Order: sequence, then structure tokens, then C-alpha cells
Amino acid sequence: MDRDELARLVSEAGQPGYRAKQIIDAVYRQRVESLAEISTLPQEFREKLTQSGMTVGTARIEKKFASVDGTVRYLIGFGDGQSVETVWMPEGDGGEAGDGSEAGEEASGSGSSGAKAQFLTEGSNAGLEGLLHPAKNRTGQNRNGKNPTGQGRGRHGRSTICISSQVGCAVDCQFCLTALLGVKRNLTAGEIVGQVCVVLKDQGVSPPEDRINLVFMGMGEPFLNYENFMKASRLLVEAVGIAERRITVSTAGIVPRIRDFAEEKIRPKLAISLNASNDALRTRLMPLNKKWNLEMLMAAARDFPLRTREWITFEYVLLGGVNDHPENAREAAELLRGLRCKVNLIALNPGPGIDFTTPSAERVAAFQEILRVAAIPAFVRRPRGRDIYAACGQLKRTVEIAILPVLQQESSPTFSAPREG
Ligand code: SAH
Repeated sequence: MDRDELARLVSEAGQPGYRAKQIIDAVYRQRVESLAEISTLPQEFREKLTQSGMTVGTARIEKKFASVDGTVRYLIGFGDGQSVETVWMPEGDGGEAGDGSEAGEEASGSGSSGAKAQFLTEGSNAGLEGLLHPAKNRTGQNRNGKNPTGQGRGRHGRSTICISSQVGCAVDCQFCLTALLGVKRNLTAGEIVGQVCVVLKDQGVSPPEDRINLVFMGMGEPFLNYENFMKASRLLVEAVGIAERRITVSTAGIVPRIRDFAEEKIRPKLAISLNASNDALRTRLMPLNKKWNLEMLMAAARDFPLRTREWITFEYVLLGGVNDHPENAREAAELLRGLRCKVNLIALNPGPGIDFTTPSAERVAAFQEILRVAAIPAFVRRPRGRDIYAACGQLKRTVEIAILPVLQQESSPTFSAPREG
């Protein structure tokens, strides 16, 4: 539940307006686990809420995989047994995480412990979705929500949480593992925010004191779950305390929603998955390009109202011999000319069932250089957590895979297709 819904609930219960804020603080900031723990509320009101069917629903960390590079991939489960993946990157990914932070190299890792977070949800007699959440600190060592190691904090902290917006994805990008799942369902706003809360809890960090970046680049297409994504964004800003400029949403290119997004008062920054430099190639790699082609996409990008010191990020997944030719770089530069933007280059993260190969570092560097010469800032994103299937496009609830002998790395023939071109 968001502020307005809570305000309504509180006023209908005949309680003073400030009770809504007390509930929000308890649930999103202190991350209590039950109504009973919200000690700022009168006992009687807590009982009334409980009786009216309000409960604290759960988002639980079901599994956790830690990479050698410090990345942690979480499998986070919800009430109906569905789960998504959420990734903690203690150092960003070298591509400024697509998030506008000055990500760099000097950040450090962070400790973690098991945690559980819960949402305040309304019973079946009500139409409001569950939304509040938090987590009680079970470790006991972080009563202020401070990271005991001091990592992820202050100006040296550049931790990024990559969150999911749907269970699976409907977009069918040919190089992405999540696509193989199809879409199971949308996440509610509460579930989206819940992912963040459980991870913050588990990592022992708490914004705004700890500088946390968020990217909607996990499972799902946020703009195909637009209302819940936007509601979650507002809650992340207003209730959890993460600044708008530290949140980035990435879309595969749902053009009408990019235009809606442009009108929002509170909104994250925009990233667009370009991934190809002409329509024929993009349609092959991302079938949604048939519906919203490059001309429509680039028109929406050009019309997008940027704030001071804001830019659009374009992601470009490089597939060996497919879209990584110098000619592609020149075409991409042409498409982006004159736009206030930057490009994040991502060399393909391989996966079973993905018939593309990862280009060599030289090839990636050559592509980057062409963009740079054309005055388009281009960054190469370091793959994070490939060994635990946490990198871009590898999120597929890969419990089975990750339990295999910690992945034969991407050199394994299982995960690479014959080189094209
Ligand atoms: N649906 C949204 C957000 C999720 S994907 C979108 O498409 O933007 C996040 C990023 O990972 C996208 O830019 C996507 O192009 C990239 N990606 C997908 N599969 C990948 C893979 N196998 N290797 C590298 N990047 C990949």
C-alpha cells in the first residue's frame, strides 16, 4: 500500500493522519515484520487492523548464490510460490550501472546474512494489494541498518541492486535467458519494492545514508507492467528513500509507454535496449521491433524530456559476428547523433539455449572506439556474476544450473554456439 492508500485506511479508521506516516516508517524504513511490532501505533489500532484482515505478507530469500566477484544473486519467493531474481552488485558494473552514478573501480564488497521481509497486505475482503514491507534485523548487529563493514556506504559506496518487474518475460529477445521462461505474471508494486527491502536488509544497508543505486534490469519488461512499476518507483523514492536519479528503468522499447513515462512527475532515469543498428537486425534479435521499429523508438527518445544533467542510456548487447561489426557501430552512431545519451556496451553473457557467442575484447573495444570517435560516450559493462548466472540476460531462476559444479564458466562448450561470421 502506498501513502494515499494508507492515508485513506487511517482516516476510515478514524485515526489521525500521522498514523499513515508511522506505518510507512515502520514498514519501509525500520522494516518490521508484523503489525504487532509497530509500537508507535496504539495497541487498539493494531488489533483493529489485524481484525480487518491486514496481514504482513512475505517476500522471502529462498536461495542465494554468491559470485567470486562479490555479486550475489537472490531467488526471492512470494506468497503464491512464484519467485524472481534480484541481484546485488557491490561495485556496480563499470558501465556506471546505467544508473547515473559515478560508478568506478574503488568500491568494495559487502557482508550478508539470511533475511526475510514482509509486506503488509490486506485480507481477501479488500481490493488493495499488499505493499508495505520490511524486514526485522535478525542478525542483530545492525540496529541502524548500517552496514557493519562500512561498505556500500557514503561516497565510496556504489552498490547497485538489479530488480525484476515480472516473473519471466514476454518480449522474446533472442539472446536473453529470461525470454525462455515466457511471462508467468506481473509483480505487484509491493513485490517489486519487497525485493529491494529484503536485499537491503540482507546486506545490512539502508538508504539514504547508504548510497544505493537501483536498476530495473532484472527479469521482465517493466513497461509491460507499467502501473505497478510506476507505483513501486514512487514508493522506492518516497517511502524507502532512494533518490530518483539513482534509479534507472530499462525497456526493450515499448514506445507508447516511453511516451507515458515522459509525462511522469516522479520517475527513474530511462535506459533503452537498442541492441541493433538497423531494423532488419533488430527485428531478428528483438521481435518487438516489428511493432515498434527504430524510427518510432528513436522519435520517442528524441522527444523524451531530459532533466538537467540527465541523459538516456542505450544498452547494446554485442553478439559475436552478428551485430558487432564496425558498420553496426557506425550505424548506431548515426541513429544516436545529437541525442543527449550514452551507450553501455554489454558483451553477450552466454547461457544454455542461447545460440550466440561473446565477441572478443578487441572487437568490443573497436566498437566502443567508433562510437567515441563519433562523440558518443560509450562504456563497456563488466559482466557481473556470470559464474552464478547473475549477469544481464542470465536470470532464469536457474537454481538447477547454479547448483551444478559452479558453472564451467563461459568457456564451456555447453554455453557457446559456433561463431557466426
Ligand atoms: N526488459 C528490459 C530489462 C531487462 S534486460 C530490457 O529489455 O531493457 C536488461 C539488459 O540486459 C537489456 O539491455 C538486455 O538487452 C540485456 N541482455 C539481455 N540478455 C543478455 C545477455 N545474454 N547478455 C548480455 N546482456 C543481455
